Amino acid sequence: MLAYEVIVAGLGAMGSASIYQLARAGVSVLGLDRFSPPHEFGSSHGDSRITRLAIGEGAHLTPLAQRSQELWRHIEADSGETLLTQCGALMISSDETRAPVHGASFFSTTLEAARRHRIAHAMLDAQTIRSRFPQFCVRDQEYGYYEPEAGFVRPEACIRVQLSLAQRFGAHVHTSERLGKFESDGAGVRVITELGSYRARRLILAAGAWMPELLGPSFAPVFRVTRQVLNWFAVTENPDLFAPERCPVFIWQLPEGLRMLYGFPALDGPSGGIKIASEQDRVTTTADSVRRDVEEAESADFYRDYVAPNLRYLSAHRLKARSCLYTQTADFGFIVDVHPSYPQVLIVSACSGHGFKHSAALGEVLCQWGMQGRLPESFGVFGLRRF
Ligand SMILES: Cc1cc2nc3c(=O)[nH]c(=O)nc-3n(C[C@H](O)[C@H](O)[C@H](O)COP(=O)(O)OP(=O)(O)OC[C@H]3O[C@@H](n4cnc5c(N)ncnc54)[C@H](O)[C@@H]3O)c2cc1C
Repeated sequence: MLAYEVIVAGLGAMGSASIYQLARAGVSVLGLDRFSPPHEFGSSHGDSRITRLAIGEGAHLTPLAQRSQELWRHIEADSGETLLTQCGALMISSDETRAPVHGASFFSTTLEAARRHRIAHAMLDAQTIRSRFPQFCVRDQEYGYYEPEAGFVRPEACIRVQLSLAQRFGAHVHTSERLGKFESDGAGVRVITELGSYRARRLILAAGAWMPELLGPSFAPVFRVTRQVLNWFAVTENPDLFAPERCPVFIWQLPEGLRMLYGFPALDGPSGGIKIASEQDRVTTTADSVRRDVEEAESADFYRDYVAPNLRYLSAHRLKARSCLYTQTADFGFIVDVHPSYPQVLIVSACSGHGFKHSAALGEVLCQWGMQGRLPESFGVFGLRRF
């Protein structure tokens, strides 16, 4: 049996950031993943994730997003890879009834966070949005919050680079090895996989959409796993308008009866298309039973109802589509807390559709927990007791 200071189970967004920070700090660490990350079975694929600093899900999250942007710049310098593109973000809303985004007060909380944390931003009326960003068909009553330092990160590259740097710093990474069970082992923890068993002082569980399965039925009510669909549509005209220099990432609270809409510029040139998506939280699934393919008809309906009425110069031609998994909590918040029965095990579920932008900074905090067994007081908001 091999012994480590810390084992990280699940090497997606949260696990790769944790193992990178732990290895960098000189901690002996083993990372396990049931697949070979980055992969397309969890929550961290699809080319891009929005990052913004004024966080509409809660102003308390802003410091994590700010720190993550700093860390990605450090990691870029260490690896030579581009991870973060600050093309700006546009949040569109109106005073009328509109689609909720991760709770009811997304737009007003964004503005409050920007003011509280002095994040550079501008409020734009419909006319200004039309002249600066003619690709968006905004309605007269709509307005926008524009944040120039926001943008997108490349999730697969973040994971790949952090895992590779972690190994360079001495971490052991075992892919295609699934954690089956964990149990107390004196003051530490024993982890059992199909291939062996390992001992460590502490275990970080970051299994994403597999968390309910790993933690057992008593945790099931805490998590809702939902299937989400991403579509890439072809650009027909004015490709320059979709370049990251001209096109911000966007989140649009569409009028009543519709869901929210979000999207990205053309990350890899216009031939790669524009990724656009919405969210659904009505139908739940599990990571093992989810339907992974996306039918053409599903994309065609989405284009007709959401893309065509709101964006110019995009065709119904679908270049690709992917399904992806949200692991949501009831308040759209995160869980970062010790296991109620195992103080040497940390439960990390930071998704609810908006966790990636915080992952690099969460990795630092999780590293501190791995070394000292303590979380910052401010992490009380991520506690399990609130459920
Ligand atoms: C469609 C979509 C769009 C999103 N958009 C944004 C966005 O724009 N901005 C943003 O900030 N966030 C966004 N998010 C949320 C963000 O992507 C998630 O918060 C983040 O990916 C969650 O990371 P994770 O590490 O918890 O899960 P994952 O990255 O899925 O990692 C979990 C890992 O655990 C492994 N695993 C599972 N079970 C075991 C086991 N038993 N043993 C070993 N390994 C195991 C899996 O193989 C996987 O690699 C989005 C999510 C989705 C799905």
